[in-house]
Amino acid sequence: MENSTKKRIMSGMRPTGKLHLGHYLGVLKNWVSLQDEYECYFSIADWHALTTKYNQTSSMKEDVQNVILDWLSSGIDPKKSTLYLQSLVPQTAQLHIYLSMITPQNWVERDPTLKDLAKIMKDKQENVSNLSYGLFGYPVLMTADILTFNAHLVPVGIDQVAHVELSRDIARRFNNIYGFDYFNEPEPKLTQIPLLKGLDGNKMGKSFNNDIKLSDDEKTTENKIRTGITDRNRIRKDDKGNPDNCEVIFDYWKIFGSDDDKNEICSACKSASIGCAECKKRLAQKINEQLAPLREKRASLEKTPDIVKEILYEGSNKAQTKAQYVLDGAVDIIKMYK
Ligand code: SF4
Repeated sequence: MENSTKKRIMSGMRPTGKLHLGHYLGVLKNWVSLQDEYECYFSIADWHALTTKYNQTSSMKEDVQNVILDWLSSGIDPKKSTLYLQSLVPQTAQLHIYLSMITPQNWVERDPTLKDLAKIMKDKQENVSNLSYGLFGYPVLMTADILTFNAHLVPVGIDQVAHVELSRDIARRFNNIYGFDYFNEPEPKLTQIPLLKGLDGNKMGKSFNNDIKLSDDEKTTENKIRTGITDRNRIRKDDKGNPDNCEVIFDYWKIFGSDDDKNEICSACKSASIGCAECKKRLAQKINEQLAPLREKRASLEKTPDIVKEILYEGSNKAQTKAQYVLDGAVDIIKMYK
């Protein structure tokens, strides 16, 4: 079981439904690039979704299906990586119980996401004690996700380093308490993520209705881009624009255009030889071209939902085998009755 010489990576995503360009650039492209060098475990974290949406589960199955479709069409390869559904690997829940026994409460309380949530609830004058027991324990569940595979590395953005730090602390505490160097102390694997704003200039997100989905068709993509914020001082087509003040559209050009594209748009904008409508049309074309292979693959996978489901089940079975091995070792070290 421990015969792979590759370092292990664990990461996951909540099943939020169809994924958008921000997920693709910020997470999926990175995962694809890690698959050859590392032994990767990628989780659809449906238990984590329940920590905040325990009473909104009607779309859960569809959301899971959409996430796996977007992963596969983006190039996450089930022959290289283990793709699994968190709730199909119950060993994670068992390990979570053992880890929750050794984790001091104040370690969990210092979690920045929980602090933010408590602040939001206070601002909305909601009772902070309404935070559920499950939500309060989510940093420990996240640690269990990582330690279930005794992962070495966790790919994260700078804002999530604190979560990995807590996982390191809990792994170290387990090893110290039971006197055995069993769990790796997982390290954050920092990734440079190009920040893609939503079309309205705010953070891109499904709930803000400002995103471009990977599965959107070409026309929808074009219509959405038409709503993107430009240089607000450029009112008429013959006003000269300034790409530096173009709040969203030129930022997208920086990500999706070549150097030649950017130079051409920049000078055409400054001389007013191109209007914003035409500029957006060209950008939509660029993005559609780049997403075309992914969308084609997704459309073909959508026709075989049973095969897609099978991929997730097979991955979950594979994840279970590894997780059981790690859990058995931990249970032995704790000296539980067997
Ligand atoms: S022409 Fe393009 S870059 Fe210039 S302001 Fe309009 S949308 Fe932005």
